[in-house]
Amino acid sequence: MLLSRNRLLAVCCFGALALLPAQTPDPEYDLLLKGGHVIDGKNNLNAVRDVAVKDGKIAAVGTNIPANKALKTVDVTGLYVTPGLVDIHVHVYQGPVRNSYANGDNGLFPDGYCLRNGVTTVADAGSAGWRNFEDFKTRIVDAAKTRVLAFLNIVGNGMGAGMIEQNVEDMDVEPTAAMAAKYKGTIVGIKSAHYSGPGWMPYERAVEVGKKVGIPVMIDFGSATRNNRTLNELFEKYLRPGDIYTHVYSGLRVEQDPVTHGPSLALVEGRKKGIYFDVGHGGASFGWGVAVPMMKAGFLPDSISTDLHRSSSNAGMKDMLNVMGKFLAMGMPLDQVILRSTWNPAKEIRHEELGHLSVGAIADIAVLRLERGKFGFVDMTTARMDSDKKLTCELTFRSGKVLYDLNGMTREAWDKLPVSSWRGGDLRWDGLRQPPQQKKQ
Ligand SMILES: [Zn+2]
Repeated sequence: MLLSRNRLLAVCCFGALALLPAQTPDPEYDLLLKGGHVIDGKNNLNAVRDVAVKDGKIAAVGTNIPANKALKTVDVTGLYVTPGLVDIHVHVYQGPVRNSYANGDNGLFPDGYCLRNGVTTVADAGSAGWRNFEDFKTRIVDAAKTRVLAFLNIVGNGMGAGMIEQNVEDMDVEPTAAMAAKYKGTIVGIKSAHYSGPGWMPYERAVEVGKKVGIPVMIDFGSATRNNRTLNELFEKYLRPGDIYTHVYSGLRVEQDPVTHGPSLALVEGRKKGIYFDVGHGGASFGWGVAVPMMKAGFLPDSISTDLHRSSSNAGMKDMLNVMGKFLAMGMPLDQVILRSTWNPAKEIRHEELGHLSVGAIADIAVLRLERGKFGFVDMTTARMDSDKKLTCELTFRSGKVLYDLNGMTREAWDKLPVSSWRGGDLRWDGLRQPPQQKKQ
């Protein structure tokens, strides 16, 4: 005889009626991740803890939370439980235009590249400008399961193909500010990238919009052709505390001191001023010969990010966990790597509700495995660094929902389930299966 799953079940046992507890009445939690090593930089937590989720929020973090308090308990012993990763430099405005990051084939729809890496939040780094942002929003931001935020390009057409990014005529403060204000929150900053013309106009205008709307700018300081613009001038005259300099280990714009091989004086002064330094690995913005000596000299990145796009995803960059693995390979402790991939970037884009596992926070969670073995990591010059460690992703939750589960850890063994479930089971809203309703003995 079956009663509600939240009541005691009356079952026939050797001809006698016996009462067995099914689930705790109205379980306190929807989900319990039990026995994992939690790394939560905001809360200075780096220890084995259980993490409980209720209604899409973190409900408790503690030791020995009883399994029977949760509708679903997953044993994550031996794994790392971290806030969902936050990658603030990606290109996800995928579309039909050839060789374009704006509505083009250089962009990648985020879900297939982010969720399987524990990344629950991304910020597109300027693929769209004010002219095409609403198309980007409708087709990508609103459609993706990954949380997609964006830096709006100072160029109205965004990162289009050819010379579109060089068109100073299309760098308008007013419409860019209007669009950024309309979608403030989803639009987290203004981007200037790849400018190779003369003068400082793109940076001035990006910062002007940033001031009007109250958001930071992210700067990709162009290619090797910079028309004598110096980093020192950029940081001193134009950028504000809280603005973001990306591609910090490219070395292409004199980030590296040519004599000491450590950070250039401009970077040291920029950091003192409060400018953030972001990795933005990409296809051509991360070299071992730049990163290793700069790291050794103590110049660590504030945020680790991918610069995900079509070519970087198949070159040395690959994905977020691969880039994080490079910092492990260079000797950065795991908790520091996680901090720079969660809470630090969340702060940079002023989404402080993300990037941590505080009670009450949105339950964006990554469950990661630190593999031991023989691995190699490749930079923009195709040079390799060997490592004995590598991060892989077992589980990704956004707002408490399972969005990626590599080994089916949240699922039931098929041959333990009733025959009635073989052609489609009774799945809950978050993809978790209802616990079996009755037991026969
Ligand atoms: Zn980029």
